[in-house]
Amino acid sequence: MTYEQYDALLMEYSGFICYISDVSTFEILHLTKAAMDLYGLKSPSEYTGQKCYRLFHGLDAPCPFCSNSSLRCGENHCQEYYNEKLERWMSVTNTLRHIGGRLCRLEITHDITKQREQLSQLSEQLTMESVLIKCVRILARERDMNTAINHFLETIGRFYDARRAYIFEFDGDAQVINNTFEWCAENISPDIEQLQNLPISCIEDWIAKFKESGEFFSASLEEDFDSAPADYRTLKLEGIQSLLAAPIIKDQEITGFLGVDDPGANSGNLTLLRAASDFIMEELEKRRLMNQLEYASYTDILTGLKNRNQYIRVLQEYSRKTPATLGIIFIDINGMKKINDTYGHSYGDYVITQVSSIMKDCLHDNLFRIGGDEFVALCKDIDKETFQNRVLKLRKELEAHKDCDVSLGSIWRSGEPDINSQLLQADELMYAEKQSYYHTILNTGRTERTGMASEVLQEIIEDRFVVFYQPQFHIKNQEIIGAEALVRKKDDNGELIPPDRFIPYYEVEGVIRHVDLYVLETVCRQLQRWLRQGIALRISVNFSRVTLMEPNIVQTILDTCVHYHVSPAHITVEVTESIGKMDHAQLKLLVHDLTAAGFHISLDDFGSKYSNLSILTALDFDVIKFDKTLVDELEHNYKSQVVMQNSIHICQDLENTRSIAEGIETRGQLDLLSDYACDYGQGYYFSRPLSLEQFDALLKEHAGKH
Ligand code: C2E
Ligand code: MG
Ligand code: MG
Repeated sequence: MTYEQYDALLMEYSGFICYISDVSTFEILHLTKAAMDLYGLKSPSEYTGQKCYRLFHGLDAPCPFCSNSSLRCGENHCQEYYNEKLERWMSVTNTLRHIGGRLCRLEITHDITKQREQLSQLSEQLTMESVLIKCVRILARERDMNTAINHFLETIGRFYDARRAYIFEFDGDAQVINNTFEWCAENISPDIEQLQNLPISCIEDWIAKFKESGEFFSASLEEDFDSAPADYRTLKLEGIQSLLAAPIIKDQEITGFLGVDDPGANSGNLTLLRAASDFIMEELEKRRLMNQLEYASYTDILTGLKNRNQYIRVLQEYSRKTPATLGIIFIDINGMKKINDTYGHSYGDYVITQVSSIMKDCLHDNLFRIGGDEFVALCKDIDKETFQNRVLKLRKELEAHKDCDVSLGSIWRSGEPDINSQLLQADELMYAEKQSYYHTILNTGRTERTGMASEVLQEIIEDRFVVFYQPQFHIKNQEIIGAEALVRKKDDNGELIPPDRFIPYYEVEGVIRHVDLYVLETVCRQLQRWLRQGIALRISVNFSRVTLMEPNIVQTILDTCVHYHVSPAHITVEVTESIGKMDHAQLKLLVHDLTAAGFHISLDDFGSKYSNLSILTALDFDVIKFDKTLVDELEHNYKSQVVMQNSIHICQDLENTRSIAEGIETRGQLDLLSDYACDYGQGYYFSRPLSLEQFDALLKEHAGKH
């Protein structure tokens, strides 16, 4: 057939896109003018002999969707398909005809791209509306707000076929942004944890875009934000290509944004995101309000700590699911009623807030104010050492603060402890401390703070500490000039534990002050009795360097003497040579203050391994006490003799400095010391440390002799 014959045949279809092909060979036999135009062909020679799949679809073999085999003569076969080559949607009607002795396919095509687009827009619109309705329903129906927002994000994320959907909220006060909610598609790892507390400045570009064009779609983040690529990289750590975001606006202020990563569908539809961001703003507001309400009902307004309601809730939670380890601290302000009565409630409130802020500084969470002056800290899942360190720090801070006079009880347990019995124990320990506080006030009339480590405190209450007296003699006439007070501790069986076994530990724990001051108090009480009996002695009391570093320690020591009407002249403050490690100015001030108050100061353990002669030139001591190690070697070591003799001479040369040798065990040592004109001596040769009764007996014996 000729082209003219075909044309005549297709007369009625001439305005249509239409072609005829051989069904068995796929050869194109004829194209109408409209079809040639569609495929950009100028003359029939350009298609003659071409295969339909090649010309229409650019393929080398028959199309996988070819309908030739299902065509029947006299029947119309209709189909819609997307022509990749033309990038257009086509609606085709096919039929078989015998033309010129060949079985031919006659295809009439309509370009329906425009209609398809309109339809898809309509359906997108419908989908979007139904998604919005779904979102609104979720927010309205879901009782738990977090679940609602997460579900909401999932709906948005699925609509956009996104990897993630999320909300960022600005914290204007802190100038940071936080990713507060996130939904992730299957197999996408969450980003939320990394995206916290980011400086607002890192999304300056985003905010500018929000202000300029409302929501935005960035098909290529790299290009759109190339001016500040670090910004979005900070915000989105994963390799995100594209992003859709809409600001969350409250009272014309941008308070955050709603976004989706890598939208695979509907990316041109920003309307949904914009509408959704309005809904979510309302929801976030509601949430903020609820949080405030919740905060108010579980928070103590004065201190910002959690209140009793919350304490009960947490305890219930712990008894349902016991923590592996639990440290409990009970704190009670001493004399709160008196503080309020004497200084007024505003000062009382001040004391309460001071205690609570020290607690906040030293401990982390789960701090409660459970009564007017009662506080509790529950420290779960930390090891014993960490807990004890925190308690120690807390004690130190509280003790250092003159307004915070508290009693404290603490206890740590592991192995899913019985919380109720542990609470009871902590409470009891706190009360034990409180008892001692009142005990001290009653006995001494002192009102200054007496917060103590419960352990030492309990030992003091139980009279565990015993003071022994080791007499000191005048070397020349062997008269008793006084004694050194030496502490011992009774164990559970009444056996005496030497001080070297517990003092270093108490020093580290920061509670040695209580032992030192207890010994001082015992000594003062005893001196008062001796003075009444007409016995005038000078007693040396050992003070740890740790105790002497305490602010106002001289006043504290003096107060005790005054209380027992004992003149400071009867007390020698014995400081060990390691005191030299103290800050020089502080040490100088200490020596000055003690001397000014009328105390004698003795430098203990002089000549032991850390000897430093410069301390003698820098400070004025009343007594230099030569260490036992020097005395030990005296008889057999010539060098020791030289050192000892010269050291004693230095004392003689220094105005008002006496020498005393400790650890004298033999007659030979005593004779040498006597030759060197050492003033005083102490040691087993004269006497071991004695109990009060033994020492009293010795005093009587000596009084008889002299
Ligand atoms: P120190 O102040 O150098 O006390 C002298 C120590 O030497 C005492 O030991 C005493 O018993 C012992 N001693 C005295 N003469 C002889 C002797 O001839 N031979 C032998 N072998 N030892 C003798 P103690 O009582 O065990 O005290 C040890 C240390 O504990 C004291 O050394 C002192 O640093 C400290 N200490 C004792 N009581 C207190 C206290 O109330 N507070 C403080 N912070 N430390 C104290
Ligand atoms: Mg001593
Ligand atoms: Mg000593």
